[in-house]
Amino acid sequence: MELQNYVAGRWTRGDDGGQPAVSAVTGRPVSTAGAAGVDYAAMLMHARGVGGPALRALSFPERAKRVKGLGLELLRRKEELYALSAHTGATRRDGWIDIEGGAGTLLSLASKAKRELPDGTTILEGSLERLSKSGAFVGQHVYTSKHGVALHINAFNFPVWGMMEKLATALLAGMPVITKPAPQSAYVAEAAFRILVESELLPEGAIQLLVGLPGDLMADLTSQDLVSFTGSAATAAALKSHPNVVAKSIRFVAEQDSINASVLGPDATPDQPEYELFIDEVVREMTTKAGQKCTAIRRILVPEALLDTVESSLSAKLAAVTVGDPAAEGVRMGSLVSAAQRERTIASVQELMAETRFAYGDLALVDPAGAGARPDAFLAPILLRCDAPGEADGVHRTEAFGPVATLMPYASPADAVTLCNRADGALVVSLFTHDPALAREFTLGVAPFHGRVLVSDRHCARESTGHGSPLPVLTHGGPGRAGGGEELGGIRGVLHYMQRTAIQGSPQMLTQITGRWQAGAVAEDHPVHPFRLRYDELEIGHTFRSKERTISLEDIEHFAAFTGDKFYAHTDEEAAAANPFFPGRVAHGYLILSFAAGLFVDPEPGPVLANYGLERLRFLAPVSPGDAIQVRLTVEGKKPRKSEYGEVTWDVEVTRQDGDVVATYALLTMNAT
Ligand code: NAP
Repeated sequence: MELQNYVAGRWTRGDDGGQPAVSAVTGRPVSTAGAAGVDYAAMLMHARGVGGPALRALSFPERAKRVKGLGLELLRRKEELYALSAHTGATRRDGWIDIEGGAGTLLSLASKAKRELPDGTTILEGSLERLSKSGAFVGQHVYTSKHGVALHINAFNFPVWGMMEKLATALLAGMPVITKPAPQSAYVAEAAFRILVESELLPEGAIQLLVGLPGDLMADLTSQDLVSFTGSAATAAALKSHPNVVAKSIRFVAEQDSINASVLGPDATPDQPEYELFIDEVVREMTTKAGQKCTAIRRILVPEALLDTVESSLSAKLAAVTVGDPAAEGVRMGSLVSAAQRERTIASVQELMAETRFAYGDLALVDPAGAGARPDAFLAPILLRCDAPGEADGVHRTEAFGPVATLMPYASPADAVTLCNRADGALVVSLFTHDPALAREFTLGVAPFHGRVLVSDRHCARESTGHGSPLPVLTHGGPGRAGGGEELGGIRGVLHYMQRTAIQGSPQMLTQITGRWQAGAVAEDHPVHPFRLRYDELEIGHTFRSKERTISLEDIEHFAAFTGDKFYAHTDEEAAAANPFFPGRVAHGYLILSFAAGLFVDPEPGPVLANYGLERLRFLAPVSPGDAIQVRLTVEGKKPRKSEYGEVTWDVEVTRQDGDVVATYALLTMNAT
């Protein structure tokens, strides 16, 4: 199979026949891939000139719909990908993480975007900043899509997930993508990419594919472009220090390798459930994807007194792992991606041998299970042991990207923290304990050096996604050695592809620019009550002002008796007056809210379908018996939900007869279209 590049809407072969990839299991050729002669400059132009404008013309909900469609399409055709994935040495479970994990990431982020992003093309961050005394001069942080292309460079180990987790956020942000998979597994990535193209869900120019290197990818990038790289620290260093990347301050997100640790708490002795959970997790992490995971456990830290016990528990479990052709009966662990990767892993183990000894396994060739399997790319799990990790260096630095981990003791929780942090920045660390005090001390100690911390115990283990799984809604990435990058994390991941700009001006100008009504802007009274207007008829700034209502002592007493809320500030004059906030007995905040609703609601059946909740509620001034309140209700923003209805955000302000603001909040309603 000759893989093709997808260039400006056309499938194109490289000129040179390309690099061959062979099946890691059988050694038979699977594909060739090359990009020599591909017009990379034309790809950049096509993305910037065609794909970018088309994506930016779509609103966030429209982009989310397409991204969801891509996820569903991948799921519908997943068996095509599983068939190819097996050639990389992946078991069905390994493939599930990559393929269904990739599709799931698209679905999860699309759903988050649909719920959390506005119906438009810009994102406002935080609330309005008042910059002058009267409020006539204000500021707002606004995100807009960058006008360049996102260049995605991926590692070999997750050809589908790696591509999709980057694509999802870029497409949601309105940025076109050129994606380049790693050669060892490019045949899986190309097939997944084809499914996306054949879905016809994306506008022309939104995605393009390079199955090889047509030349220097960094040289022609501009300051509006972005590089998101996943791979080794060495490649990342070379690419991010490219003179053009440095000169143009091109945003460069790096996800690199990382020497992750997992720690057994001192309380987690063999009679506690956390002990078994820990042993199982370490074995799972060492053997899933044959250890070729950036998040895999590389260092196993246990209390000194338990070192030998853990060594025998792990060895017994590892001995039960059958290594072989993923398609063969009973196989638990497949091969590495290639014979070359086996050699690389062995070289790293040999480096580690300077400070460690074999506790389980060795470097001998394995006889893989399965009739057609050749041993070239197979390596059985290897457990190394380092008895003096405080004096060692390589065990905290060297990544053996295969089924390899080093067991080491720690003397105290503080020592465990120090050892974990010796990796100088890692993607993830996990702690197995049922001791909350230890969990706090450890987590706060390691957090500045890690992107993710998992604390596992008997209560969450059953539902836990585990040490090694990055999740679409949580950030993935780590400081320092791990690359300093950050991806995913829900909408945070989308924002990496956008520019944050501080916009200053009057509230009226900011209302016009942002499409969200800003306090202080014109609030025009509409002749018709806004509850009588359908979703499509409501305009930002439409306002209703209620009549006044005086609140009597009887109202307050009635409310106290009716609800049972007899808090002294509403029922005891003397105690209320002694409180620094109140002149005497005052109305309940909830009474004010209830009366406010009574003042602004238009009761007849109409387009308002439901009250969806309140946000940012603040009670700002007390209401005493005899005070009169009035409500202003202004359409602040709108967001489509389903074809039959949309969500309306109303800015609500309750004032007193002297003009003081008593309460402010955002009211959310669902309105028929
Ligand atoms: P790699 O050798 O660094 O390659 C990564 C990607 O960079 C490949 O697509 C490679 O393609 C490309 N590349 C290399 N030189 C390039 C250049 N001059 N211009 C453009 N692209 C270039 O890493 P790998 O062996 O594929 O992946 C394994 C490593 O990735 C491990 O160290 C693992 O820890 C890390 N990883 C990290 C994460 C994370 O999220 N932090 C996730 C997965 C893997 P070519 O080979 O075609 O050049």
